[in-house]
Amino acid sequence: MPTPVPDLAQPPTAGDSFVLTGTPVVPGAVLGPVIRPSEGVRLPVASEQSALAEDARGAEKELFRAAAELVATRLAARAAAATGVSAEVLSTTAGLARDRGLWGAVEQRIDAGTPAAVAVVDAAQQFVDMFTALGGLMAERVTDVRDVRDRIVAELTGQGEPGIPTPEVPSVLLADDLAPADTAGLDPAHVIGLATRLGGTTSHTAIIARQLGLPCVVAVEGLEDVRAGELVLLDGDAGTVTVGPDPGDARSRVEAARAAAELLARYTGPALTRDGSAVPVLANVQDGAGARAAVAAHAEGVGLLRTELAFLGRAQEPTVEEQAAGYAEVFEAFAGRKVVLRTLDAGSDKPLAFATPPDEANPALGVRGLRVARRDPGLLERQLDAVAEAARRTSSVPWVMAPMVATVPEAAAFAAAVRARGLVPGVMIEVPSAALHADRLLAHVDFLSIGTNDLSQYTLAADRLSADLADLTDPWQPALLQLVGMTADAGTRQGKPVGVCGEAAADPLLACVLVGLGITSLSCAASAVAGVGARLATVSVDECRRAAEAALGADDPQAARAAARAILAA
Ligand code: PEP
Ligand code: MG
Repeated sequence: MPTPVPDLAQPPTAGDSFVLTGTPVVPGAVLGPVIRPSEGVRLPVASEQSALAEDARGAEKELFRAAAELVATRLAARAAAATGVSAEVLSTTAGLARDRGLWGAVEQRIDAGTPAAVAVVDAAQQFVDMFTALGGLMAERVTDVRDVRDRIVAELTGQGEPGIPTPEVPSVLLADDLAPADTAGLDPAHVIGLATRLGGTTSHTAIIARQLGLPCVVAVEGLEDVRAGELVLLDGDAGTVTVGPDPGDARSRVEAARAAAELLARYTGPALTRDGSAVPVLANVQDGAGARAAVAAHAEGVGLLRTELAFLGRAQEPTVEEQAAGYAEVFEAFAGRKVVLRTLDAGSDKPLAFATPPDEANPALGVRGLRVARRDPGLLERQLDAVAEAARRTSSVPWVMAPMVATVPEAAAFAAAVRARGLVPGVMIEVPSAALHADRLLAHVDFLSIGTNDLSQYTLAADRLSADLADLTDPWQPALLQLVGMTADAGTRQGKPVGVCGEAAADPLLACVLVGLGITSLSCAASAVAGVGARLATVSVDECRRAAEAALGADDPQAARAAARAILAA
């Protein structure tokens, strides 16, 4: 998508130029005036409202239902016009506006005489407290609840719809954080880039920005001081927001980014370094539709089929036949090519009602991933049967890996079950103990795949969903890179492949560093495949090795990035 460049013949009068730094998420450079989300909705204060007369309560409930329904309908209409993650996020938020639990809690309060808007605020708070206490993925839903609350209250009190205003010229959106529904509803014709003060590389904002191809930087310190209307240069490669940039420099940077984007548009794979080393760039998908989109994006295969994502929200375990049909779609899309299927990674941020214990105090450290098979070995057996059946139908030999493996006996037992079905076994490296014992794990399995999202959370002891700790879970953390390097070395010693399938592989610069550490394939969102593949073509393996060494020697993620960039600058 070409990036509009504002007319700089008459640059706005800016103050002194200064640069704010954050975490780069989506590459590209854009220049434009700042817009900010509209001011927050004014929430009613309970003590300023008198109780409703008994005969007015029925009508008040009708007003509430109409407002909530309108909010849900609007969001559902936007979901219908969107695709992929954006559509999912919008319809989830629409579903929340119609949630029976929420409606019941609001109506109960209205029945007790509370005016509708106050009842909404009060009931929403009950859910916020509950989700916060549950933690993990549930805690992330707090933003959705607050968003739905604000939309319904705005409707009830005649305030404008909260969210992102439609600017007159293409603009750069700056915000503290964005409600998932706001990010999902962004129109790239109006919003050409975005930066947030909070959020990490795996936040909803980051995932959707990646899908929309919007240059994006998160966790930008000092962003709150930049006012709407100021001219900024947002650089999604460097992770910077330059306020009041020099117009000439800014224009050249935008042009360079545009040229890089054109190069990227011409990418058709396979990925090779400048000196001709093949480093397959594969895609992370969740179903057949995603796999077909990945083929179109020139992915060379699937490096991570997240099987649990197709079954979130399901009360019952899907049958072997249903699973086999779903997996076969993915194998078919990449017939004759590599597909790595991951067995159910239920639990923590991806709870499955039929697999996850409901009452764990600390789900991220609980019965998740392969550990679910301790409680219910049949669940894993049936899934492997389904994979074998899908393989038989499509005449393919998929690679199958287990998530959250922590010990050698776990890997050995998993490998035996996979081999018994004629499939190729591997394990994910997501726990430091697995990285430390990579050599021993490789005695049992044929490949390893590093999940940097979880490996960073467990290495740095920082919740991957916490916006406040995004600097700790940054995939450039040198300690994380060291574990990646140790794992890759084990693969080299034993002549077995070691890939990376966490978000780290979606960062073109970091992808080069991973190659330098000895990683043999990369797997990322389909939308990131071309960027990674095109970047690899600009570097030699030796340069990657030197960049990796420099990054390992740094003390923090920013220094690691800068050190690698100094060596790999195109
Ligand atoms: C990871 O942890 O890096 C990974 C790829 O798995 P997920 O993000 O699905 O937990
Ligand atoms: Mg993981």
